Amino acid sequence: MQHALPERQVIICSVCGETTFADHSVLWDRLVSEWQLAFHERTYIDRQQGTCCTSCGANLRSIALADAIRTVVGTTLTLLEFARAPEASGLSVLEINEAGTLSPVLRRLPGHTLAAYPAVDIHVMPYSDDAFDLVVHSDTLEHVANPIRALEECRRVLRPSGALCFTIPTIVERLSRSRVGLPKSYHGSQATNTDDLVVLTEFGADMWTYVLRAGFSALSINAVDYPSALALSARKGPAAAQQR
Ligand SMILES: [Zn+2]
Repeated sequence: MQHALPERQVIICSVCGETTFADHSVLWDRLVSEWQLAFHERTYIDRQQGTCCTSCGANLRSIALADAIRTVVGTTLTLLEFARAPEASGLSVLEINEAGTLSPVLRRLPGHTLAAYPAVDIHVMPYSDDAFDLVVHSDTLEHVANPIRALEECRRVLRPSGALCFTIPTIVERLSRSRVGLPKSYHGSQATNTDDLVVLTEFGADMWTYVLRAGFSALSINAVDYPSALALSARKGPAAAQQR
């Protein structure tokens, strides 16, 4: 189905600037059951993953992430325009695992580096301290063994003025829970059962606490379409004593 969203909810694609979207259903019944999603939760996760810009193909998750990146770098350009702009040339960007439909756009940034599992493990990355202006990942943290350690590692490789932008699938009316000890649940597609896509944490309303526990000094949440399209951005800030 292709449609323009109702005027009250017009979403501008922060990747390409278009406003027309097509809906695709993404979730399948078994995953919905494992995740214990209510109908309205299934609806907004489907929208997050399956409502895509008809021009550039970005889904709402990627559009929220692009919006967070634009805010962090301080541009009003679309992300595609920014990638060609002079101000992008000095920006060193680390993309950890392919960031969904945003990955082809991030690759256009002149200072782009892709770190992909299993060659690079987010818990122990082969980069020096203070190496990047921007670190980006999308729907990765729910698959890693230790999300706080992963976020600490993202913070380590950021310059003092740098920022992390990321998405995680979040059910906003519950708290996060570990799936360790529960039956294995996989993202990706119905046929997926590779261990790099097994879900280890289901994130909820307390997802922001992971960011601060990893030592970031400040964070914000960009909501392109609440609650379906949220992206977090976090500033490295000065080194501080961390408390767990
Ligand atoms: Zn677009």
